[in-house]
Amino acid sequence: MKFSTKLIHGNLKIDETGATNTPLHLSNAFAHTAAEELEGIMKGTSMGFAYTRISNPTVTSFERRIASIEGGFAATATASGMSAIYLAIMNVVESGDEIIASSGLFGGTYTLLRNLKSYGIKVIFLETINEESLKNVINDNTKIVFAETLGNPKLDVLDIESVAKVCNDNNVIFIVDSTMTTPYLINPIEYGVDVVIHSTSKYINGTSNSIGGVIVDGGSSKYKDVKYKNFNEYSKKFGKMAYTAKLRDTVGKDIGAALSPFNAFLNLTGVETLSLRMRQHNLNTMAVAKFLSINSKVASVNYPNLPSSKYYTLAQKYYKNGASGVLTFRLGSKENAFNFINNLKMILNITNIGDAKTLIIHPASTICANNTQEEKEQMGVYDDLLRLSVGIEDIEDILVDVENALKFVN
Ligand SMILES: *Cc1c(COP(=O)(O)O)cnc(C)c1O
Repeated sequence: MKFSTKLIHGNLKIDETGATNTPLHLSNAFAHTAAEELEGIMKGTSMGFAYTRISNPTVTSFERRIASIEGGFAATATASGMSAIYLAIMNVVESGDEIIASSGLFGGTYTLLRNLKSYGIKVIFLETINEESLKNVINDNTKIVFAETLGNPKLDVLDIESVAKVCNDNNVIFIVDSTMTTPYLINPIEYGVDVVIHSTSKYINGTSNSIGGVIVDGGSSKYKDVKYKNFNEYSKKFGKMAYTAKLRDTVGKDIGAALSPFNAFLNLTGVETLSLRMRQHNLNTMAVAKFLSINSKVASVNYPNLPSSKYYTLAQKYYKNGASGVLTFRLGSKENAFNFINNLKMILNITNIGDAKTLIIHPASTICANNTQEEKEQMGVYDDLLRLSVGIEDIEDILVDVENALKFVN
């Protein structure tokens, strides 16, 4: 099956009712006729459902759809993108371990990683994460390399293949957050990534009607290594699926950040149109990027598919059909940036991305308000910078709104 077909039919199981949409199973628990049956499910020796914190048929259906479109062995859905990141990391690390991360991360992820210090986990942030910078800091204590395929809001394009090579040479687990790029632009597992995360709250859901996250397991034999001794038992039993087996058996259950079946149902509906939406997001964003880059009031525009971008070559190499729906631009001063937002008529001032609607935010005073000046600069955030998440409205309406608001900029 090709990609857009998988969005609709990938791992689709039609039950005895013939319903074409996966039914919404709003039930906390599942009854079994034989005691042996429930014993087997709870022990993990047979398939089935026991309790929705652990698994649920609607959620499983969503997980299978995501695994299908991402090219993973298995997927685990979570209550939010943040819980997906937290669980994906805590499934691996122990006190004394080290993580190497890029500094151009989503603000919430940056803070999460910084807070791991209190668990005795050291995080090294690299302003640019690539083969050379990694080689200097990777060591025997490094358990994870974490990066975003496309940084939010830095919009730096990760050189996945070269980072994966260093991770493989050193037997380090490589986790990427692909929220910004979605499986429509890239399947990171194909480039040697071990675990892929999405905040499904964004493009996968597509209309911002539910928060959620997902952890996709690419399968790996790295877990056999003595370095990952907490995985060894799972590795013996579950082979390449050791990561998901441990995740579901330990932190997944312990923390209980399960995705609600209702949200899984909404995501299943949303994901069917991912290709159509991403196509329009890509086209509209490129049009806005071009429009802004020839306006004299705009100091600079950052969008990886603009030939002037320093990430242009990497974007061309890794992203299929466009560079997603987010761009940033600078207007010379905070006052100009605020004036621009305050004079928009249709575009919404919102802390979100990946919606069908066009959204704008001033990151320095909002999502990055708790970061130091130095951290902000590492994240590519400046006082005069705006982040625009371009929606799928008619491009003419978006451009009219942008053009009008620019009249209020000095
Ligand atoms: C939004 C976002 C997250 C966090 O996801 P939530 O669903 O809001 O918890 C993580 N990473 C990236 C890149 C995001 O854009």
